Amino acid sequence: MRPFDTIVIVDWSSGNDRGATPKKDAIWAAVASQDMPQDPVYLRNRQVAQVWLTELFTREIRAGRRVLAGFDFPFGYPAGFAQAITGHTDPLVLWDHFAHHLYDSPGKNNRFALAAQLNARLPGHGPFWFNALPTPLPDLPRKKSDRRGQMWPEFRLAEAQAPGTFSCWQMGGAGSVGGQAMTGQAVLGQLRAAFRADLRVWPFEPITDAAVVLAEVWPSLLRDQIKAASRKDEIKDACQTRVLAAALWQMQSDVGLAQLLDDVPELGKTQEGWLLGLAQTSALRAAATKAIRVQPTPFLPKYEIQPMSTLIPPRLRNDCFAMPQGVAWVPVDVALERLRANLHAVCPIETLPTSKALGRFLAQDALALRANPPAANAAVDGYGFAHAATTADVQRLPLLAGRAAAGQPFLGAVPSGAALRILTGAILPDGVDTVVLEEDCAVGDGLVVFDGPVKARINTRRAGEDMQAGQIALPAGHQLRAPDLALLSALGVAQVSVFRPLRVGVLSTGDELITAPALPTGSHQIYDANRPMLLGLAQSWGFTPVDLGHVGDDPTLIAAALDHGATAADVILTSGGASAGDEDHVSALLRTRGQLSSWRIAMKPGRPLALALWDGVPVFGLPGNPVAAFVCALIFARPACLHLAGGHWQAPNGFQVPAAFTKSKKAGRREYLRARLTEDGRAEVFASEGSGRISSLSWAEGLVELPDAAAEITPGDVVRFLPYGSFGI
Ligand code: AMP
Ligand code: MG
Repeated sequence: MRPFDTIVIVDWSSGNDRGATPKKDAIWAAVASQDMPQDPVYLRNRQVAQVWLTELFTREIRAGRRVLAGFDFPFGYPAGFAQAITGHTDPLVLWDHFAHHLYDSPGKNNRFALAAQLNARLPGHGPFWFNALPTPLPDLPRKKSDRRGQMWPEFRLAEAQAPGTFSCWQMGGAGSVGGQAMTGQAVLGQLRAAFRADLRVWPFEPITDAAVVLAEVWPSLLRDQIKAASRKDEIKDACQTRVLAAALWQMQSDVGLAQLLDDVPELGKTQEGWLLGLAQTSALRAAATKAIRVQPTPFLPKYEIQPMSTLIPPRLRNDCFAMPQGVAWVPVDVALERLRANLHAVCPIETLPTSKALGRFLAQDALALRANPPAANAAVDGYGFAHAATTADVQRLPLLAGRAAAGQPFLGAVPSGAALRILTGAILPDGVDTVVLEEDCAVGDGLVVFDGPVKARINTRRAGEDMQAGQIALPAGHQLRAPDLALLSALGVAQVSVFRPLRVGVLSTGDELITAPALPTGSHQIYDANRPMLLGLAQSWGFTPVDLGHVGDDPTLIAAALDHGATAADVILTSGGASAGDEDHVSALLRTRGQLSSWRIAMKPGRPLALALWDGVPVFGLPGNPVAAFVCALIFARPACLHLAGGHWQAPNGFQVPAAFTKSKKAGRREYLRARLTEDGRAEVFASEGSGRISSLSWAEGLVELPDAAAEITPGDVVRFLPYGSFGI
């Protein structure tokens, strides 16, 4: 048997939400693994516990690790009970029943009503008893002594051998485990449905090498060891989870757990369940004593769930922009591929509430914590019934009293041949698998009448048909859009691990530049057009724009601006001065101080793209010419920045359209023409190709991309149009 990599012990509770501050009688869990000891975790309610367990199991399964999860509530009832309720001896069928019929929320649940309902299906008055609600439930005795003529023994075989255990029939009150068994089996039933073949329940199922094994435990077996281990002010529930987890871990490393898991009487295996370690108590106690002794440091309880620590990704490599020697003109695709291969996410990772994460890039896969839908339900307003009892003729089904509505489940069962009013979103009650649309029915005299035959399961939604718990809902690198918030919220994903937004610094260079409200002192001065454009692009792409201002063609000033930029931004876009001419101070400076790589890209418009690292921060030296700066930003800076921000590498999504223009193009470089679609869906291009024509950028609604090869384009030829929208603007 493969040993367990992780052992988790959970102390369950049937109480309502216990609040944010750690309290006793709440749910507690402790994990033992290679890195023990670990602090017990406070789980304020069962919903939180289920999410925590789902996350733990999912993480471990995906890491190829094996988990033993122990829970301190009965996994079964005295022999015969499951069969009396479900018709099956298999207690896991009863788990499914609870998973579907226990409606549990942090503030209230229907466990007393459910116990009453089960009692009603059995002879006598009982076996469940205790009603904490003010309203009497006729089928649920308030006192143990009120029970009459019920036929079940008080204890299971295991409990009879473990003095001090409580009876599973008592649904509330001090020390009762009835509520814990019911709420616990309901949650574990849902986890079983979510993890399917990866999860097995001991001792009912063969556990062989299943990734997750659930087992029933009873920490009180270690009463003395727990007492000895308890720290000052430590909550007992917390202490016992960590001591039992540590003891099992110790036992596994000393002698293995095979014997512990094998030693189960037949009735325990088939019907009632068993307490892990019951037949090996002295060995388990010895392991606990040893585990406590070897604990290296005093154990200080720290009860909050650890927030995910902020992770800082590694810096970029110094040679990330290097181009092999001797490359004269770099094709666009080669340049893009180099950027893709050599850049990676540079932003720290943080955890955010899902509702605050719009526009962020996921740093980890977001996993479904719940199935959608969590239970089979009705897709329309109508009448529900069992398909098996219908025929091809006109159907006349007696209509039951009551109804099932969204949020208001029908607790009873619908007998075969009867129908129940059911509304959209309502959970399908027991006995219902098919729903007929209300418009197709006539109702009267206590009957629902409609034409057969009806297709089985029509107008219903299967549990998990959209997504199963544990599935990857959205992959790491995905940028969250509004519909993604709907998906994650529906799947119970309340927080996500995301990258902090990329800070994009924008710097303009050139002696000729001024910025409003400054007034020109002469016609040699022009207004800085690139900076607002590039800051605007950064914002449209979901980054944080950082205005680094403009500086003249002075190496000292440019260096100072870059120094500031390297602390205030994660990436810097400069424009101007990036060629190899006399006044090209940006490239000159980057050559001496920033490991400049000047890429001569075979593209029009565009000149060399100056790429460098300034104090480890990537700098994109874009051309000064606004049209060239714009196109280079869309083609190169955008995918590179998305990648640096933690996103997937993205190419714009273009489509083929007929050309409405004539153009002759030489081989050897790619061309981007400012274009828009005519009313009949053809691409027209701006009349002048002049790269100083800023108005062309506003006139256009996208770019036409002409391939690297030579091309003779005449009207009607198919060209690739890339709308601005495909560049995220
Ligand atoms: P450069 O790349 O510095 O040689 O500049 C090329 C052309 O773009 C020149 O005509 C510059 O005046 C112009 N230019 C440079 N930066 C800007 C800017 N921020 N806004 C508008 N035009 C600019
Ligand atoms: Mg210049």
